[in-house]
Amino acid sequence: MHEFKYKNNQLYCENILVGKLAKTFGTPLYVYSYHTLIDHYLKLKSAFSEINPLICYSVKANSNLSILKALIAKGAGLDIVSGGELFRAQKAACPAQRIVYASVGKTDKEISAAIGRGILFFNVESLAELKNINRIAKGLNKITRVAIRINPDVEAKTHKYISTGKITNKFGIDLDSAYKVLLLRAKFSNLNICGLHIHIGSQITQSAPFVEAIKKVSNFIQRLKSKGIVLEYLNIGGGLGIIYDHEAPQTAEIYANEIIPLLKKTGLKIIMEPGRFIVGNAGILVVKVLYIKHTLKKKFIIVDGGMNDLIRPALYSAYHNIWPLAKIAKTEKADVVGPICESGDFLAKERLIAKVKEGDYLAVMSAGAYGFSMSSNYNSRLRAAEVMVIKNKALVIRKRESAQDLVRNEVMVNNLTKL
Ligand SMILES: *Cc1c(COP(=O)(O)O)cnc(C)c1O
Repeated sequence: MHEFKYKNNQLYCENILVGKLAKTFGTPLYVYSYHTLIDHYLKLKSAFSEINPLICYSVKANSNLSILKALIAKGAGLDIVSGGELFRAQKAACPAQRIVYASVGKTDKEISAAIGRGILFFNVESLAELKNINRIAKGLNKITRVAIRINPDVEAKTHKYISTGKITNKFGIDLDSAYKVLLLRAKFSNLNICGLHIHIGSQITQSAPFVEAIKKVSNFIQRLKSKGIVLEYLNIGGGLGIIYDHEAPQTAEIYANEIIPLLKKTGLKIIMEPGRFIVGNAGILVVKVLYIKHTLKKKFIIVDGGMNDLIRPALYSAYHNIWPLAKIAKTEKADVVGPICESGDFLAKERLIAKVKEGDYLAVMSAGAYGFSMSSNYNSRLRAAEVMVIKNKALVIRKRESAQDLVRNEVMVNNLTKL
């Protein structure tokens, strides 16, 4: 469910006409619905209320400070994957004890900063990293909490680029190696190995892979217990799929019903890291039709937003619904493409789509997650503005970039030929 709906054939976000937002703020424009964002967070929270997990929103899905702030205010923690995201977490005033930090390649600088901040724990992805965090913590004279990210070797049944729980993926540590590490835990003088972490992929629409992974980990937890190794946390990651097209993903309730019994049995405090589930359907990308082009073979709708604004179609062959802001009965098959000099720059291919004309606007739906956060300046395009709608109010939460922003960090060397 989301708050982007037609009334009298005009698309609204909550109580505001999306067309009005496009005219006021220009395009391409990301528009978020505050209530959709919060509803999704609360849906998950209430489905799991029985075990009261700490829900650490995955910052990389959409890292805008206002989105972070809104979720933190509702009690969410944050799942971060870089020093930059740690900085954002700090800016948004997230309590450090609600921050967990994953990534296969944390640098010394990032590790020191996170230890300094006193985050809840690191999700550690290799033995080498474990040793390094121990060394850095020792230097800082601190004891640091870590959870071991387990690679449970399960098939997440999603796009191969966003599958992370197979043993051939770069993420996590296999069970046997993790077991050996845990037996040697006393060797890590400055680490408190307090939990396990799994995250098997993204846009997973069935519960079976989650259940399989959690079963493997909970059996492992029993095995550890029998060896006297007692943990405090189980972090089950994110990955819940959403509706882009005709998917029928598990609801929060079904997901909860299937896994709560398994989680309870572990006796551990549960952490989850949803990103897409919370923000995916809370955002759209509004673009303007620049040209209609008929070639010998095809019709192209050329719009002012491209793969630099939303890379998911190009990167994952992802499907996004595309709606006209003013409903049009007539449809026609077309490719919706951006202005970028790449044939991979498309938002939709061979799509039966409203027969729009030049100057009309289109809404690329379900663009809240991995939309703006994956955007770039490729082709020296200015990154889009972002607007948050709350009832009948629209707040700019990121200004459109200026040409000056593009070259801000560049140094123009004028006398290169003389050197
Ligand atoms: C990306 C990521 C998530 C969030 O994934 P979603 O599919 O957006 O829920 C959670 N945990 C980790 C470790 C991640 O890398």
